[in-house]
Amino acid sequence: MSPKTIQLDDRLHAYLLSVSLREPEVLAKLRAETAKHPYAQMQIAPEQGQFMGLLVRLMGATRCLEVGVFTGYSSISVALALPPEGKVYALDVDPEATAMAQRYWKRAGVDDRIELRLGDGTASLDALLAEGRAGTFDFAFIDADKEGYPAYYERSLALLRPGGLMAFDNVLRSGRVVEPKERDSATEAIREFNRALHADERVDLSMVPIADGLTLARKRP
Ligand code: SAH
Ligand code: CA
Repeated sequence: MSPKTIQLDDRLHAYLLSVSLREPEVLAKLRAETAKHPYAQMQIAPEQGQFMGLLVRLMGATRCLEVGVFTGYSSISVALALPPEGKVYALDVDPEATAMAQRYWKRAGVDDRIELRLGDGTASLDALLAEGRAGTFDFAFIDADKEGYPAYYERSLALLRPGGLMAFDNVLRSGRVVEPKERDSATEAIREFNRALHADERVDLSMVPIADGLTLARKRP
């Protein structure tokens, strides 16, 4: 058996951040303001935002999708990694949280690179497909309702170019995926999604144990 992923206790996690995190001031401010929100724990981890920005730069991505915007942390992390002509289509149902996201897009100087589409994520992805955008996206971050992941997956797969990358958040559900007594619909949905993706030959796969678990799936040419 090869070595498994190291467990990060608080000290080791703090160390990791102290020698690697380069959080832009605007994102630190957004984190502080979001902390007052009752659902603040939905926000992605800063090292995860930095990791996704690195992926976007590595790919030279210019067309990105996001399902699940909340107050904007992940969309800004991605948008800051794009060239000036890059674009993020940001999909969410919540007008209040995304109003805050829009404020921070301006503060981060990326509001011209992000287009908000309010409404159900599946419907918004279908609209992009209907606009003829199949095969045109480089990167998609999926972080909305967990029950919706299969629908977001199928549509994002169609919207991505061959070689494009999807990233799915919360695939470990704070460890609940391995607790049989945890039968809430989101955990059940993630278990089923993880199982199905493992067997799906249309993508290359890696489940990265960063933050709450981030599955990367690359569309095979
Ligand atoms: N990526 C965000 C966190 C997303 S939290 C960040 O970095 O902070 C999940 C978001 O999914 C919430 O804002 C919620 O409004 C949105 N959401 C829930 N159900 C949805 C649906 N059916 N369609 C689109 N968005 C949805
Ligand atoms: Ca999340």
